[in-house]
Amino acid sequence: MSSWKNFETNAIRVQTGRSSQREHSVPIFATSGFIFEDSEQARALFAGELEGNIYTRYSNPNTDEFIQKLALLEGVEDGVATASGMAAMFASIAAFLEQGDHLLICRSVFGSTHQITTQLLPRWGITHTYVDIDDTDNWEKEIRDNTKMIFLETPSNPGLDVIDLEQVGAMAKRHNLLLNVDNCFATPYLQNPAKYGADIITHSATKFIDGQGRVIGGAVLGSKEVMEKVRFFARHTGPAMSPFHGWLLSRSLETLAVRMEKHCENAMKLALHLDKHPLVRSVKYPFLPSHPKYEVAKKQMRHGGGLITFELEGGLAQGRKFMDSLSMISLSANLGDTRTIATHPASTTHSKLSPEERASVGITDGLIRISVGLEHIDDIIADIDQALQGN
Ligand SMILES: *Cc1c(COP(=O)(O)O)cnc(C)c1O
Repeated sequence: MSSWKNFETNAIRVQTGRSSQREHSVPIFATSGFIFEDSEQARALFAGELEGNIYTRYSNPNTDEFIQKLALLEGVEDGVATASGMAAMFASIAAFLEQGDHLLICRSVFGSTHQITTQLLPRWGITHTYVDIDDTDNWEKEIRDNTKMIFLETPSNPGLDVIDLEQVGAMAKRHNLLLNVDNCFATPYLQNPAKYGADIITHSATKFIDGQGRVIGGAVLGSKEVMEKVRFFARHTGPAMSPFHGWLLSRSLETLAVRMEKHCENAMKLALHLDKHPLVRSVKYPFLPSHPKYEVAKKQMRHGGGLITFELEGGLAQGRKFMDSLSMISLSANLGDTRTIATHPASTTHSKLSPEERASVGITDGLIRISVGLEHIDDIIADIDQALQGN
């Protein structure tokens, strides 16, 4: 596979899926199976002596192009594309952990990752310990003889907490543990966890990677050796991404850099605006100097990302009133879209937690999460301002 020096060029010019038709843009290989030239080729492909496509549950030119390109952008050798982010999270854990193993996991992970950890893994005798996101100095104390993996998200959802990847990477190495990082919020454009020793990088491609709210998809990435286990798991349990989604997502990567630049520019402007707004109690954004891990964020991220949280004066009722007063900004649980989205975690995504549980992961009743889109920043700010006034 050819590669170039810079992120943008690789994101556009890696086109492993071309056919023999000399097309400029790669076509969609909508086929479940591939034909063999003869029985010897079929035998050799199945035996793994020849590389090539056999069946789309195993591999397909479109999903391959997407995943090989994403691996290059993350600075790792290999990857497996999955039908959703959660299929990627599950495969990245289930491919490695066995009965009796222990998982060290940061407390504020995505809701379904939490359900896998607390409801499904115990069925197979896999235990876990939750560790606090702002207490990495004490994580080491929680490592047991049977600990095999550390799983974390940074920046976290919805708290936008930042974990020092260099620190945790060194810890994982000292104890010979697999470090698994959900890099969904940052994308490979803003942060490459492999640089700090992450063995496994997981993504929901549904978010900024697609970036246009069209696709559900995911990815697990790592070295060839690490991915061998994930590939075996995926080949036989079947969380394969469809060729159409692979095709779309490979196109999406072509614009990831320019989109992330603009998401981050808009988010920074909105964060600065809200920071001095009298009706806003506090704002959290990784690249605001007031963020408790500002220095860490600056060290490991190119920009601050596309998400902001802020705290309204007043509680649940105020939060809901603000949401109902928005006119352009969408109310949705999704994020990483061209369209700006507002979410009120306490009454939606995290409503099943008790107020104490919510507090422990930094979700107060007045907390609003904004996934800052690519509309003109003046229109985004105008809508938020009028909704704040209406409060
Ligand atoms: C959305 C999300 C997931 C799950 O991805 P799906 O594509 O919805 O399955 C996992 N982790 C994070 C951080 C997410 O935001």
